[in-house]
Amino acid sequence: MRRFQVSMNKVLFPTGKTKILLLIFIALLLPAIYYTVYITGGIKYVYSHSMYIPILLAGIIFGLKGGAIVALVAGILLGPFIPINTISGEQQLIINWIFRVIIFLIVGILSGYSFDVLRKKIARITELLTHHPDTEIPNSRSLSFDINNDTTIVISIIVNNYNNIICSLGKEIFVALMKAVYLRIKDDLKKAQVVQSDSSKIWVCLNDDMESFDPERISKLLNAVFILGDIPMYLDFSMGIACCSENESRQKSFQQADIAAYHAKQNHLQYSIFDESQMAVRNNNLELLGAFPRALETNQTELYYQPKINLKTREIVGIEALIRWNHPVRGFMLPQEFIKAVEETQLINPMTAWVLNNGLLMIKEFQKMDMETSVSINISAKNLQNPRFLNQAIGIIKEQNVACNLIEFEMTESSLIYDPEKTKTLLQKIRDYHIALSIDDFGTGYSSLAYLRRFPINAVKIDKFFIQQMNTDLGVNHIVRAAIDLAHNLNLTVIAEGVENFETEQSLIKMNCDMAQGYYYTRPLNGTDIISWYQGYNTKARKGMRFQ
Ligand code: C2E
Ligand code: CA
Ligand code: CA
Repeated sequence: MRRFQVSMNKVLFPTGKTKILLLIFIALLLPAIYYTVYITGGIKYVYSHSMYIPILLAGIIFGLKGGAIVALVAGILLGPFIPINTISGEQQLIINWIFRVIIFLIVGILSGYSFDVLRKKIARITELLTHHPDTEIPNSRSLSFDINNDTTIVISIIVNNYNNIICSLGKEIFVALMKAVYLRIKDDLKKAQVVQSDSSKIWVCLNDDMESFDPERISKLLNAVFILGDIPMYLDFSMGIACCSENESRQKSFQQADIAAYHAKQNHLQYSIFDESQMAVRNNNLELLGAFPRALETNQTELYYQPKINLKTREIVGIEALIRWNHPVRGFMLPQEFIKAVEETQLINPMTAWVLNNGLLMIKEFQKMDMETSVSINISAKNLQNPRFLNQAIGIIKEQNVACNLIEFEMTESSLIYDPEKTKTLLQKIRDYHIALSIDDFGTGYSSLAYLRRFPINAVKIDKFFIQQMNTDLGVNHIVRAAIDLAHNLNLTVIAEGVENFETEQSLIKMNCDMAQGYYYTRPLNGTDIISWYQGYNTKARKGMRFQ
């Protein structure tokens, strides 16, 4: 089938040598048929009909003009130059051969015209199939036909701020940006093949070896600002690099470059070079994701709780729900082993719903024992982008019949900046229900507290990275103090996360920090243990004892 397609392509779109050979073939066919008609007795016999072969061939291969010229030549050859009967010498009537010329012309012109139209349509379809419909940059299909045989390095470049640009500046700007990226790479790496393999991904094929190839060069090239119209644009990208070994298919090399690019993205690297361990992580993630929905249904997942302590009154103000997975084969798993993979997919939505539901059940357990506490639930970026998130959450809260002011949502700052205006509206709606909102891992992102204050939040949780160093590093100590003061000026409550010892707690108290959470009080505990710990804590706190 493929062979047939290739031969058809050669006939429909002949180039160079093939074109000349076909022309010679048709040119030889004409006198050969003339001769055959002559020696078989003249025009009255059926052999004259074979003249349709060169006429149709010329029409198919050389189009309207070719068909017409060959039809004319064929008509004249079979006209005054040949009698009706070569033995008797009886000549044709003029009207007879002129009529034949006209019929030949009609056949030649019609076949030529039809094939010209067909050729144009095929060319357009091929163009559409081998180019991205929006940017008109060649796509990966164009690559599979004429890939350079000595390509040795393939690079996958994924644009991370794709959604952000489209949401805030529109698709046209994104299309213009992709074109600018394409041209910049083509301009710099003259011999490279560059294709757009999907909306936000570009593949580059280079004939280079790993030793002399410098990823920094492409990195620098793409980090330089792009000016589109008068809009300066920054490209947030991750790059994956793979080497094509001779016995591996090109397709596999592209897949490896993609895996390396996703690895770079996940680990906040500008680029990464493919190695087999990245493939193992990917397969591992796929396996975990496949098993995760069932884990949620069968309660293989479990919530652990870590308390938050009010540093002024020493009371327990709430508990943070932290998920774990009791995997039937791998055993007890901490969130770091599966949460990133889950957060990348829509599975994060049923997961958060499960955590909220079970967190509320825990509050009710506490209430049954006359202990009042609130619960903090970690909310991911995809949850905030899910238009049904708030309705689903409120549905669960109503079903469990728990007061909204006993619930807090913790979000990282990076999850807010995806579509700030939309997120702000959503957060305001959440606040209208009296659910508290806090910024998790504060200090690890790039936003300033003044910027975050535009969102209707109640509290910030200073990341454990700072808290754990504040007593050994004076610079960090100043940062924590400044963050606490600034948050207070902005009317925000401050929680320190990762408090591991008495000294840190005391420093935080001196800095006027409001709340603390950390191993110093307790590690996260399962449902049964948190209740016992809670009861024990009350006794300890009243006696003003130190924690071990
Ligand atoms: P996070 O929200 O920042 O949670 C705090 C993490 O710090 C928890 O790790 C907790 O066990 C740990 N931690 C608390 N005190 C200390 C301390 O004194 N020292 C040290 N070294 N660590 C401390 P965990 O439970 O492993 O959770 C890790 C992350 O997984 C969480 O970070 C959160 O981002 C994510 N996560 C956990 N549960 C959920 C969930 O239900 N939903 C979502 N979206 N993410 C979750
Ligand atoms: Ca948290
Ligand atoms: Ca945190």
